[in-house]
Amino acid sequence: MPKFSDRSIDNLSTCNVDLILLFTEVVQYYDCSVVYGFRDKKTQDRLYDEGKSMVKFPGSKHNHYPSRGVDVQPYPIDIKLLNKHDLKEWGRFYNFIGYVRGFAQKMGIEVRTGSDWDGDFNLKDQNFDDLWHWETI
Ligand SMILES: [Zn+2]
Repeated sequence: MPKFSDRSIDNLSTCNVDLILLFTEVVQYYDCSVVYGFRDKKTQDRLYDEGKSMVKFPGSKHNHYPSRGVDVQPYPIDIKLLNKHDLKEWGRFYNFIGYVRGFAQKMGIEVRTGSDWDGDFNLKDQNFDDLWHWETI
């Protein structure tokens, strides 16, 4: 049975209880890593400058404490392949996202994914794809 690394546990522990419950369940069946929970000003603004976030501190769900946003990726994931737009690696990520959405719905936890901000299951109406991102509504 998969389980989180210490780093993932530390990151997830900065999140609100719904996100902790959801991903603590998910990881038992689908191995994944928690990349970010709460983000301080320095981290948030750096990610904004790198184009990895659309907002500066304190505009992100990651800037609340406990965090209302969490960034999670399937484990392992090959970032080089993602950057090369490798179809199978991207497919693997979207497969994980679908799994988490179903799990959240089953658990009665309302979440939004950065892969489908408006939650309409149409992925073509996105201005900013953030496959890692989950937030509570
Ligand atoms: Zn995020």
